[in-house]
Amino acid sequence: MSHISDLFIAGRWTEGRSGGRFPVVDPASGELLASFAIADEADCDAAVEAASKALPSWSATAPRERGEILRRAFEILTDEREKLAETIVLENGKSYADALGEANYAIEFFRWFAEEAVRVRGDFRLSPSGDKHIVVTHQPIGVALLITPWNFPAAMATRKIAPALAAGCTVILKPARETPLTAAFVVDALQRAGVPDGVVNLVTPVPTGPAVARMLHHPDVRKVSFTGSTEVGRVLLHEAADNVVSASMELGGNAPFVILPGADLDAAVEGALIAKMRNGGSACTAANRFYVHSSLAADFAERMRSELSQWQVGPGLDRSNQLGALVSVQERDKVAELVSAAVDFGATILTGGESSKDGAFYSPTVLTGVTHHNPIARQEIFGPVTAIIEYDDVDDAVRMANDTIYGLIAYVYGESAQALSVAQRLDAGMVAVNRAVLSDPAAPFGGMKQSGLGREGSSEGILEFLEEKYIGIDL
Ligand code: NAD
Repeated sequence: MSHISDLFIAGRWTEGRSGGRFPVVDPASGELLASFAIADEADCDAAVEAASKALPSWSATAPRERGEILRRAFEILTDEREKLAETIVLENGKSYADALGEANYAIEFFRWFAEEAVRVRGDFRLSPSGDKHIVVTHQPIGVALLITPWNFPAAMATRKIAPALAAGCTVILKPARETPLTAAFVVDALQRAGVPDGVVNLVTPVPTGPAVARMLHHPDVRKVSFTGSTEVGRVLLHEAADNVVSASMELGGNAPFVILPGADLDAAVEGALIAKMRNGGSACTAANRFYVHSSLAADFAERMRSELSQWQVGPGLDRSNQLGALVSVQERDKVAELVSAAVDFGATILTGGESSKDGAFYSPTVLTGVTHHNPIARQEIFGPVTAIIEYDDVDDAVRMANDTIYGLIAYVYGESAQALSVAQRLDAGMVAVNRAVLSDPAAPFGGMKQSGLGREGSSEGILEFLEEKYIGIDL
């Protein structure tokens, strides 16, 4: 596990000016892992000022050199990926396999954006009148505030830091209070990779809201990139409006998983187990509502019950456990309340539905008899609960799948041509057809509707940290 539990400002680890600390707890055991430094207003100001001071030289650093530093971070973290995974397990609770999967995904962003740093393109055009030249170029947007959630504490940080640094921006990372140790691990690796002082800063203010608002009102902060709930995203969009700060938002989801008539049930069950249970269900991409054609629904439910009732649940550091803990007892209780509300609304528990006495564990659960209007189908469950809704008509399934404020990801299983035609009708930034995992540094990740603004990863991800500039030339 990482033993760093301090702030990182202007190239130095510091306890912060207040000397205050907050606890970081292992949700599997309830044990204290560390007391992490609290950043006060002066620390946050210092981080913004450090990022601001470092900006001119970092943005003028050759893209190749920026890329090579990112590449070194990729190499350092590749060597240390098991230690990174253990840190993730300890403070987040997820299983070791999920944590190692996250570590690999997270590290890959440094390699991907090391390569993208030298691929920022511009354009040179002739005006229609033929007597003027139009040059379109890019420049780094400036100091960026990066705010990340607890569910993918490494990947959500690297998915932002890597493109920001590749673009020539300097950053202040504000990780979730539950998972600051993973953030410190990543920042430490960046320092060892040769990131100059002030280019990456780490602050953990408590309480969060006022400190983030203050940083967003600093005139030098020109970008906020946020991953978290839609609720907090809305607050940040309001705050960003005051200084017209550019905002990228990766927000909540309510992913439908549609199984069409004639789908290969073996493939659909295999995909459903991954799309539902990856990260213990605590993923913005987690399948949340299973719309299963009535010809397959009973078989699907029974197959899911039979698989999930055998899952081994326990602390993630024991590598034989398939499902770890939720991030906190409060999150576990939220899931339990949603399940009990679902039952009050007419759902039946086929398996699971149990909270642990010790630790933040919730058993893998399958619910049948769920209707589209059941509260469990209307919001993110963020836990290991499969909610199955039967349908008869594919048009109805599409209508129900789209009937949500969210639009992050959707899954479709079925015969290829029909599945593709349904995929085209689904309002989601990402649609998985006959597959269960879409997250890929080389692909644009992001949502429609209230699931977000902008895209991360791929060649689109770096554009979020660049301003387009038009230079007109009259020769
Ligand atoms: P959250 O919105 O509660 O917190 C996210 C971050 O915002 C944390 O760092 C938190 O400290 C900070 N925060 C909280 N209140 C704030 C405020 N008033 N001002 C500024 N910052 C504030 O989300 P969470 O519970 O940590 O994470 C779960 C949510 O994240 C889910 O909704 C999930 O769908 C979403 N998520 C989305 C993606 C995506 O890419 N779309 C990826 C992962 C998670």
